[in-house]
Amino acid sequence: MVVQGGCLCGAVRYRLRHPRAAYWCHCTMCRRASGSAALPWVSVARGDFELVQGVMTTYASSAGVSRDFCGRCGSPILFDMACEDAVDVTLGTLDQPDLLPPSHHIWCSTNLEMARTLGSGLPRHAGEAP
Ligand SMILES: [Zn+2]
Ligand SMILES: [Zn+2]
Repeated sequence: MVVQGGCLCGAVRYRLRHPRAAYWCHCTMCRRASGSAALPWVSVARGDFELVQGVMTTYASSAGVSRDFCGRCGSPILFDMACEDAVDVTLGTLDQPDLLPPSHHIWCSTNLEMARTLGSGLPRHAGEAP
C-alpha cells in the first residue's frame, strides 16, 4: 500500500509505503505541537517515508526526538525518535486519512476530557455553524 500526503500550503509532499498502525496520541507535547485536543498518527518504517517535494523545518522537542513541519504553513508532519526504526506521520496530512483508521489511543493518562467525548452528543453541522 502506498499513500501520499502533504502540508496545508502544498510546499511539502511525501509518500509512505507499508503504513503500520494508526493511533491517536493524547500527550501534552502533541497537543501543543498541533494546537489540537489530540493528534492522530500513522507509523511507518523509517525507510518507507519519502519526502518527494519541499523541505521540512525541524524542531528538536526532546533529546533524540525531532518534530518536522512545513516552515511555510506550519503543518506538523513527522515525529522522528532517533532510537526507533519507525517514524510517525500526522494522519491529518494524508490525502485520504480515512484509508487508515486509528486502532488505539496512547498517553490517555493526559487526555483532555473533550478528546474523550469528541463530537458525542454535540450538534453537528455539515459546514459552518448556522
Ligand atoms: Zn506548507
Ligand atoms: Zn504525542
